[in-house]
Amino acid sequence: MHDVWSVKRSAAEDRPQARMRKMVQVGRVNIGDDNAIVIAGPCSVETRDQIMSTALAVKQMGATLLRGGAWKPRTSPHDFQGLGFEGLELLKEAGELAGLPVVTEIMSEDDVPAGCDYADMLQIGARNMQNFALLKKLGRTTKPVLLKRGPSATVKEWLAAADYLLDGGNENVVLCERGIRSFDNSLRNTLDLASVALIKELSPLPVIVDPSHATGKRSLISATAKAAIAVGADGVIVEVHPNPDKAWSDGAQSLDFEGFADMMANLDSPLRRVCRTPAAVSV
Ligand code: PEP
Ligand code: MN
Repeated sequence: MHDVWSVKRSAAEDRPQARMRKMVQVGRVNIGDDNAIVIAGPCSVETRDQIMSTALAVKQMGATLLRGGAWKPRTSPHDFQGLGFEGLELLKEAGELAGLPVVTEIMSEDDVPAGCDYADMLQIGARNMQNFALLKKLGRTTKPVLLKRGPSATVKEWLAAADYLLDGGNENVVLCERGIRSFDNSLRNTLDLASVALIKELSPLPVIVDPSHATGKRSLISATAKAAIAVGADGVIVEVHPNPDKAWSDGAQSLDFEGFADMMANLDSPLRRVCRTPAAVSV
């Protein structure tokens, strides 16, 4: 091991008392208790109609939080960058309409005050996992943070990023595995489900999975969401859009309302039984 730095607060290797599970409260929702949560909503807030109809639909089908991006970290500067503050206002209104707490991404330190005022939880996106100035600033608040794993970050680097928040005094941290870069480009990313089990072993922090960004492919979301819960994740975050083929960002990985209902039903259905050979052989 050439990394000589340490993770002190988000991992519990040498502090058995810290193995106690932490629970993070977002509005009236607890993340990290016995029930898995489902965060759903569009990649980006686009129009009033789009966010209001999505909020009502996902609430009706059992989602526990509403997501929606106002500031979008797009790979190309020529792609839709989000509605900014207007998107934040629409998201808040949609959350109130549906009775769901809302989570949105902030990309810069400048967005922290508005994010804290308007959202119940703030996402640090994969590309910003090591934006240390942003982590430090959010660490000085008590706002719940959804800390996504960087596309090329090791589990230890991810936990060290969480330490920036915890060290600052913000204990309300939820981790999110959203797929990493690997040799395999069959899918948008490679979903590292073992990292979820590892986090559960190392850290008291809740951890959820984002099958939308991990796969980039709508047809795979239901199966990978179910696998995430089976491996021990405290919930999933999925992209849902009224008309995914017309979405302004990430349409290919967004479920429509029917697809979301199917995913919810699949999460509730029992896992396949494991076939057991009878132990005793009667003669
Ligand atoms: C998103 O949630 O829309 C997003 C951009 O996620 P990530 O940071 O994981 O790519
Ligand atoms: Mn997205």
